[in-house]
Amino acid sequence: MISVSEAKKQIIKHSKSPRVEEKLLSNALGFALAETLYAKMDTPPFNNSAMDGYAFSCALWDKKSSLTIIGEVQAGSNNNLKTGPNEAIRIFTGAPVPADVDTVIMQEKVNLEDGKITILDDGLFQGSNIRPKGSQTKKGDVALKKGQIITPAGISYLASMGFSKVKVYAKPKVSIIITGKELVKAGNKLKSAEIYESNGMGLTAGFRQMGIEPLSVALVDDVLESIEKAIQSQLSSDIILLTGGVSVGNYDLVPTALENCGVEKIFHKVKQKPGKPFYFGKTATSLIFALPGNPAAVMTCFYEYVTAPIDAFTQKKHLKSLTMRLKNDFNKKPGLTYFLKGKTIESEVEILDSQLSYMLNSFAVADCLITLEEEKTEFKKGDLVKVLMID
Ligand code: AMP
Ligand code: MG
Repeated sequence: MISVSEAKKQIIKHSKSPRVEEKLLSNALGFALAETLYAKMDTPPFNNSAMDGYAFSCALWDKKSSLTIIGEVQAGSNNNLKTGPNEAIRIFTGAPVPADVDTVIMQEKVNLEDGKITILDDGLFQGSNIRPKGSQTKKGDVALKKGQIITPAGISYLASMGFSKVKVYAKPKVSIIITGKELVKAGNKLKSAEIYESNGMGLTAGFRQMGIEPLSVALVDDVLESIEKAIQSQLSSDIILLTGGVSVGNYDLVPTALENCGVEKIFHKVKQKPGKPFYFGKTATSLIFALPGNPAAVMTCFYEYVTAPIDAFTQKKHLKSLTMRLKNDFNKKPGLTYFLKGKTIESEVEILDSQLSYMLNSFAVADCLITLEEEKTEFKKGDLVKVLMID
């Protein structure tokens, strides 16, 4: 049996390299850029007005006279009007500023009478309220760096420069295989000894939390051939998750099925609670995680182990790790790392009740998993602990 830290190291070591794909900019939200993007053009592309107001040449103005309005320029129109000394042009936000004016005054700061404006702005300076061409980006500047996560504002920014496609790091193709003779899909009636299948639902939601839609969720009986068939059919996925049937019972057939399908075992069993029988293996194309079926063990192993290779593949950190002070005492046995459901309250973290691996009631209200290291047995209020945020 290996330690948690060794298991995590092995998973990172065998993680898949990122895959690059081109996406429509409109579909690129949340992806990490796989290329540095250079500005395709100056932005703004021309000098334009930042205000609804009046444009004039401050250089030619005598600083006392009112200014005669000689025309107007609207956003989207290209009226290159000429102005002389003490003349102004009505202008609107976003409209191109004619070549021989250097200043715009807000309409709220003038007095308009008989087609003339009197300027009532002491703070006005030459260049006021003009957004100069290229003041945001000059053509060829770095617009966004490789690795940047694309946000809604990032999409708007790139669209403003005329980008319509970008290269990003792809999301992994993920398949889920749920094993267990006793399992019944929600919506069906339970017969005696049956329970509702919940791991597939929880894992699907966990992937969706990371913006990944699993390709399939299969439910299979504890029959070797059925499990093998389900595995074979998903071997083109980047990540395959199985739940159940990975322990030492007579019907725990998943490790044998994986071996028969040509999966190379990297480790099986980790010194941890919950989820001791956790298995990790790989093929040339897939990473395979076989999680013990107890629902809390499934979600714990998912957050603690499956997110790291997803981060590496997508070049995006999905969950935050913190160090926090415990709000309550906790005693444990030595020899196993504990992952406990916790709830952060301001700067402290509380260990919740109901920590057993078949229980989800505390997990359902937890916002984090707390790691208590393998050898230490006594944890006191105020001790610093590692916390993985899962909300
Ligand atoms: P196993 O790992 O197959 O020995 O399962 C351990 C425990 O988890 C058993 O009590 C199973 O009934 C339960 N279990 C396994 N898979 C699921 C599932 N998909 N949904 C709900 N409970 C499950
Ligand atoms: Mg089972």
